[in-house]
Amino acid sequence: MSRMIAKYHIEMTIAALAPHFSERALEIIIAANLKQDSFWNQFGHDEIHYDNNAIDKGNRYINEQRGYVLATLLSPGILGAWIAFGRLLHTAQDFYAHTNYVTLWLDQYNGAPPPPPEIDPLKKELVQSPSLHSGKIYLPMDALYFIKPLRPWALKLLPKDSHGWMNLDTPDQGPKFPYAIAAATQRSTYELDLLRKLLSPEMFSRFTDK
Ligand SMILES: [Zn+2]
Repeated sequence: MSRMIAKYHIEMTIAALAPHFSERALEIIIAANLKQDSFWNQFGHDEIHYDNNAIDKGNRYINEQRGYVLATLLSPGILGAWIAFGRLLHTAQDFYAHTNYVTLWLDQYNGAPPPPPEIDPLKKELVQSPSLHSGKIYLPMDALYFIKPLRPWALKLLPKDSHGWMNLDTPDQGPKFPYAIAAATQRSTYELDLLRKLLSPEMFSRFTDK
């Protein structure tokens, strides 16, 4: 139960992919990305949003979707590859909004961090750090958090390891938000580059539809 608002998922996906994909491919990838936050994907799907400390499950989910991209492109199909890639990107982007990765990265710099574009989205020591965790969903307070007038009251009752306190879903969350956006955008580019390496040139150009 958590969502970085659609606007940011769209902007980051366009920033990373637009130069590389056809318009119709990009449209389907974005639609699949946004569908991850649909009502029925909010419950019992911690792996999709890296909620509730589902770090390993989230990582596995990304690998699984990457597998679907490859499997689809080994057949004549294409639609399934775009959908799986959109799903993968959503989860990869949520990683930076719902875990403390950005905080761990900033903590390395004793209060004088480099600007957001310099964040490394996959620093090995941090990705594998035992301190890496994500916001826990405490119901009903983490649901009431989304009703804006109730937010201050919900936060008073929520523990600091809750999604309500930890999320970097919107600019309201302060100076860490631009780091989450920068990291998630770079990560999206990284995921595309990884597929470029894994696919044959013929498969890759079928995938990008350009
Ligand atoms: Zn999400």
